[in-house]
Amino acid sequence: MSEFDYDLFVIGAGSGGVRASRIAASHGARVAVAEEYRVGGTCVIRGCVPKKLLVYGAHFAEDIHDARKFGWNVPDCKFDWPVLRDNVLAEVDRLEGLYGQTLDNHKVTVLRTRATVAGPQKVRLADGTELTAERILIATGGWPHVPEFPGSEHAITSNEVFHLETLPKRIIIAGGGYIANEFAGIFNEFGSKVTIVNRGDTILRGYDEQIRDRLLQISMTKGIDFKFNAPFESIEKNDDGSLTVMLEGYEPMQADAVLLAAGRAPNSRGIGLEEVGVELDDKGAITVDERNQSSVPSIFAVGDVTDRIQLTPVAIREGQAFADTFYGGKPTVVDYQNVPSAVFSHPPIGAVGMTEAEARNKLGSVRVYTSDFRAMKNVLAGRNERALYKMIVNAATDQVVGLHMIGPDAPEILQAAAVAVKAGLTKADFDNTVALHPSMAEELVLLK
Ligand code: NDP
Repeated sequence: MSEFDYDLFVIGAGSGGVRASRIAASHGARVAVAEEYRVGGTCVIRGCVPKKLLVYGAHFAEDIHDARKFGWNVPDCKFDWPVLRDNVLAEVDRLEGLYGQTLDNHKVTVLRTRATVAGPQKVRLADGTELTAERILIATGGWPHVPEFPGSEHAITSNEVFHLETLPKRIIIAGGGYIANEFAGIFNEFGSKVTIVNRGDTILRGYDEQIRDRLLQISMTKGIDFKFNAPFESIEKNDDGSLTVMLEGYEPMQADAVLLAAGRAPNSRGIGLEEVGVELDDKGAITVDERNQSSVPSIFAVGDVTDRIQLTPVAIREGQAFADTFYGGKPTVVDYQNVPSAVFSHPPIGAVGMTEAEARNKLGSVRVYTSDFRAMKNVLAGRNERALYKMIVNAATDQVVGLHMIGPDAPEILQAAAVAVKAGLTKADFDNTVALHPSMAEELVLLK
């Protein structure tokens, strides 16, 4: 008999925690996972999944419009927010059920309660029960960062945005990153007046500059307003429920909702980590080594709470690697090179590898190929919206070191192309591949 109640106790049943629990259990470990909110975590419950469904919902606005050019006699259509919201939330419920079932099928004990760390090998549940485990895995994810200013309590974050009672006629979105640009596209297509307010003058820092500029230009053409270098001063709630937003250097603005999308902070405070000596960095992220081990040898962490790359598939890889390493006899280290990413803006962005600026800094001599084109469908639809594909090549080796795309279905195309970049293929390999015509993706093998 083991001296511990469990071999592994996982705190947090999000993407990383569920994967680690399930795989460790399938390797024969006795596993418990505690979740204080809902099984599935940010991605399933209030992130990637419901967001993507809203993106699909939003895109119908353009499809309905364009359909008329393709001969369809489409009557005036009205969008009904509560219908979409409730259908999306029902789908989230269904997925949450499936996640729970998967854990049950793998004989993982699911404790639907808050758990905190009470010792290097001990956890405490909300009712005071203490349980021991040989290893503890922290997979508590992140939490929206709410900048401090008077009236910030009148704003919502991505946690609440999926539950809005009514569609705001005017929405101000603070931030210039993923969430800001994705929800700007969503609300704009639904007919809200959208203003993005950013503290700096750059959207989507980290993405290739030309791609970012293209999104900015298309977003403005679609009617989204941008205010740059505009830190929030305050929000006041008016008698009619509307909000007055004061920005530094700008006239006051009126809105029906304010969405704060100013990054996500690791969810590491108040769960007993510092008390047992787990080292956190200055942002509160748990410091771990490549085996996901913290400064306390029996405590590990995966996913957003470690703030390595805040993406679901990365958390899943980390959870899998942890379980395979410690319970499957297969030591695995996650490879963070060439992780593809996407922004589900309107139109979406997909990227993998180095931006042009990064490649010039790191490699010196690079070749850059671009294709700036209007998708066939957009031409017939009379939609003056150009896609941009960009390939960055190491001039010394001919290896493709970066691919950056904005345009219809860019994330779908990029995922497949990322295999080639990850495999280290060269520009000549792309050129040797016959085009698939007519497609947008064929641009990738026709770059001159
Ligand atoms: P991002 O990190 O993408 O963007 C944060 C934005 O907020 C930046 O424009 C940043 O400005 C600004 N900002 C940061 N701090 C402050 C502050 N104190 N006051 C005002 N503005 C501030 O974060 P998001 O919240 O959009 O998303 C969180 C994370 O979730 C992302 O980093 C991403 O990893 C993940 N995510 C991924 C998605 C996807 O894969 N498609 C979709 C949604 C989220 P500055 O540039 O000046 O720092």
